[in-house]
Amino acid sequence: LTTPAANEIEISLFGPGYGECLVVHLGGGDWIIVDSCLNESKLPVALAYLGELGVDCATAVKLVVSTHWHDDHIRGLSKVVRACEAARIVVSAAMREEQFLTLVDLLRGVAALTDSGINEWTEILETLSTRMATPGVKYLPPRIALSDMRVFQRVADLKTGVTACEIWSLSPSDEDAAHAREGFKFLAPKGDSTPEPLTPMGPNHTSIVLWLEFPDTKILLGADLEQVSSSHGGWSAVVGSTSRPTGLAQVFKVPHHGSQNGHSSDVWSKMLEPKPLSLVSPFVNGRVVLPTAVDVARITSLSKRSFVTAEPEAKRSRRKKSRNLADWTMLNQAKHVRSLPSGTGHIRLRKLPSSDWQVTTLGTARAL
Ligand SMILES: [Zn+2]
Repeated sequence: LTTPAANEIEISLFGPGYGECLVVHLGGGDWIIVDSCLNESKLPVALAYLGELGVDCATAVKLVVSTHWHDDHIRGLSKVVRACEAARIVVSAAMREEQFLTLVDLLRGVAALTDSGINEWTEILETLSTRMATPGVKYLPPRIALSDMRVFQRVADLKTGVTACEIWSLSPSDEDAAHAREGFKFLAPKGDSTPEPLTPMGPNHTSIVLWLEFPDTKILLGADLEQVSSSHGGWSAVVGSTSRPTGLAQVFKVPHHGSQNGHSSDVWSKMLEPKPLSLVSPFVNGRVVLPTAVDVARITSLSKRSFVTAEPEAKRSRRKKSRNLADWTMLNQAKHVRSLPSGTGHIRLRKLPSSDWQVTTLGTARAL
């Protein structure tokens, strides 16, 4: 593993099968982290990766974006926030809704929620309030993202050759942010029973889509945003906006794990260069497996090259199948049980000014 050059843009997409995290080098030693998932050692992949590169997360990471609070995008995010002391946290405008904060407060410390978005947010809010209260510690209030907001800007430095860079949030739309209030009702604990962790459903349409703009390239990170029926919500609102940055992106982090409900043909024709580079992280949870074969066919037909971080296979059902006594006995007796391919899938794209993207696949990642 080598560190990208000072003037080299890098996009790293990590996805172990359940979970997604993006780490982006903006050039000039500036990094951003988008969402979080854990590696096989249960550490946030972003921190593990930047640690291996010898990057000082405390100073080098400028933004930590939580596109939405579903389990597959938030595991380990509180550790990321704690480590990235100089980073501004960017959260969806849906998070401002009173219900969400009430919910976080209500569920604070519930042991059954060790893996949930709520627990991560409880810790994130604690980290932020500690920072705010500690003299001499720089506190940056979270940036509440809505559509068409510039959340980061860096001007070019002629001396070092570091280029200009802008990052925009293209969602949630005003309408989707307003509707989030409705969605939270379904997440509230039912009676006095154990509250259910936040599962990946529903509020994907409040997730933050990011637009990264450099002098010679543009990148669209689609989060889990879905297509919705209203023209003022989901991808329709993004494509139809008259106040978003213009231009066509060369690289597309395909939304919602390649799912059909995240697909908008207008995005491909109006926001992306013809045949872009497409990156997908799968979503494997029980019987839900994304992308499907149909999704893969659609994505590959629209892309020049496309990559997935891990095999979209139903791992859990395979494990269930082996849950009979004979299998367990065999597994327990075997001295060298071969584990599944380890190493979180990692697609790494790098680009020097005026050069093409160089793609490397590591761990379980492969071309589609
Ligand atoms: Zn997801």
